[in-house]
Amino acid sequence: MIPAHATPAWIGLGANLGERAAALRAALAAIAALPGTRVLRVSSLYRSAPVGAGGPDYLNAVAEIATTLAPQALLEGLQAIEQAAGRERPYRNAPRTLDLDILLFGDAPIETPTLTAPHPRLHERAFVLLPLAEIAPQHVAAEALQAVAWQHIERLDAAW
Ligand code: AMP
Repeated sequence: MIPAHATPAWIGLGANLGERAAALRAALAAIAALPGTRVLRVSSLYRSAPVGAGGPDYLNAVAEIATTLAPQALLEGLQAIEQAAGRERPYRNAPRTLDLDILLFGDAPIETPTLTAPHPRLHERAFVLLPLAEIAPQHVAAEALQAVAWQHIERLDAAW
């Protein structure tokens, strides 16, 4: 049961080190285990070249959740999941075992020192827009997809 006061949110998942698909599967299970949180829908897996850094390709996906958590509590829950996956941040855009971003949270914009939603770089990145468009086309304008059409990204047929 999803309580009536649960908020819909969309989470971007990415990994480019180690067993990437396994890391994303584990992250999904951990998100579903957050208090008051259900995973409602998950996109296909996508493979994308790293932006602004070297390293192996990323695997990416987007999940729709419904949560009774406040935005900051959700962010902290996601950061704890990232930490548990062994994420280190030696430098900006460094390869990571797991990256979790809040893409959208409810209808009203959020602007705090720790959280901006919609995510400020949402519209710059094909690896977010394509999986988001797959499961939430109402949130992605055709112009936004056209603007990132030059970026290298591939939807994988492989199942999760
Ligand atoms: P990153 O290294 O890309 O995972 O960025 C993490 C930092 O971005 C954290 O310090 C967060 O407080 C901040 N942040 C701001 N808005 C968001 C968002 N919508 N989702 C995730 N992190 C966010």
